[in-house]
Amino acid sequence: MKEIFHSYLYVRENLHELEEIMKIIMLGAPGAGKGTQAKLIAGTYKIPHISTGDIFRANIKEGTDLGKKAKTYMDQGLLVPDELVVDLVVDRVAKEDCKNGYVLDGFPRTIPQAEALDKALAALGENIDYAVDMEVPDANIVNRMSGRRACPACGATYHIVHIPTKKEGICDRCGKELILRDDDKPETVKKRLDVYHDQTQPLIAYYKRSNILKEVDGTKDMDEVFKSIAAIIGA
Ligand code: ADP
Ligand code: AMP
Repeated sequence: MKEIFHSYLYVRENLHELEEIMKIIMLGAPGAGKGTQAKLIAGTYKIPHISTGDIFRANIKEGTDLGKKAKTYMDQGLLVPDELVVDLVVDRVAKEDCKNGYVLDGFPRTIPQAEALDKALAALGENIDYAVDMEVPDANIVNRMSGRRACPACGATYHIVHIPTKKEGICDRCGKELILRDDDKPETVKKRLDVYHDQTQPLIAYYKRSNILKEVDGTKDMDEVFKSIAAIIGA
């Protein structure tokens, strides 16, 4: 009887832990709002926000070898080769701060990346809980990206019309001057959208097959989109 009670307590404790672990992937076209929502999720549920784009931009800024290699692809609106991305993410999600979950933003972006992630997680007895696809038609994307302004210091992102700063061109959070990302210029955006449809969109069917795909209307305003996501992840 005593043993049964202890097993019951053990299961309860571990179920409780499992309920708190949230491993989330943000899917969607460039400019769909993945980073904006990932930051809200990470802040609300106290889990790390892992953006491969941010990791590459930080490497470019620091002038590392990885940054130099990644830049040649990013400037052309192309994806960085899988072999430069996969190990980096697999190592990152194995870190201590990811033990209660994380939100992946911009990874995976190809089927081989998704397969490599699944394989690495399976080896640890883990899995992704939700792949949230933010649906925004191409027609809205160019506007989203040409209006995007990013803070080179703290990484905050705004939109000149939809999510404006209090003082034009200045980051609300840290006071630095905002920039237009090089790859947000309309000629690069068109290429990035083609690459998205060709290489990343197939992930929607991939995660549908694993029964973890959740679709949200990304055209709604930022708070409404966040409410839909919070309802899905049930936290
Ligand atoms: P992604 O990470 O998918 O590339 P971002 O989160 O950086 O996209 O969003 C792209 C641009 O659209 C940014 O300027 C952001 O401020 C703006 N944005 C994000 N969510 C919304 C929204 N729901 N409505 C309008 N603009 C948005
Ligand atoms: P993002 O900030 O997510 O829009 O990413 C900016 C750029 O970084 C992309 O256009 C790619 O060139 C590169 N990049 C980011 N994440 C990945 C990834 N998972 N695989 C390949 N390239 C990536």
